[in-house]
Amino acid sequence: MARRLVILDRDGVINHDSADFIRAPDEWNAIDGSIDAIARLSAAGFDVAVATNQSGVGRKLLDLPALEAIHRKMRREVRDAGGDITSIVFCPHHPEDGCDCRKPGTALFTRLARELGVPLDGVPMIGDSVRDIEAATAVGGRPLLVLTGNGAETAATLDGRIETLTFANLGDAATFLIDELKGQGTG
Ligand SMILES: [Mg+2]
Ligand SMILES: [Zn+2]
Repeated sequence: MARRLVILDRDGVINHDSADFIRAPDEWNAIDGSIDAIARLSAAGFDVAVATNQSGVGRKLLDLPALEAIHRKMRREVRDAGGDITSIVFCPHHPEDGCDCRKPGTALFTRLARELGVPLDGVPMIGDSVRDIEAATAVGGRPLLVLTGNGAETAATLDGRIETLTFANLGDAATFLIDELKGQGTG
């Protein structure tokens, strides 16, 4: 079966977010069940990509080698659980830079689509912030909201303005997508 793409936000979805920004690997801590969720998605036939705003780079709170070290830790934990992250794309810019990749801008998603040769139509995009949901909607993706990170605040802000499936955490969202894929396989 052809592999399916799923795109995840990072902070507040895979790892605990911090108002002080995640600046080093030892500040990057996975949310319970999120690493296992990525491994389960991989095993079920999903290519898991990560698209993340990292304005801490533009704010000079961390440099690119530090961000790469954080992502090595994330990839290692996923690999140790038997999964894989296919691709990580990030926006390093300051919010005032006016770039087109910082979500709700869509350039991170279109970059992934180009790199992986996959259309974005209907691709599940899992996030915890309004900007994730808006960016997913703008590219014709399928937004899934998780209530970790900013998720509860986001659910209140959206208040049904954009239709999303909502899950307690990445583990529950992964279970839903895997069950849905299995249903399509046999149905
Ligand atoms: Mg987030
Ligand atoms: Zn950017």
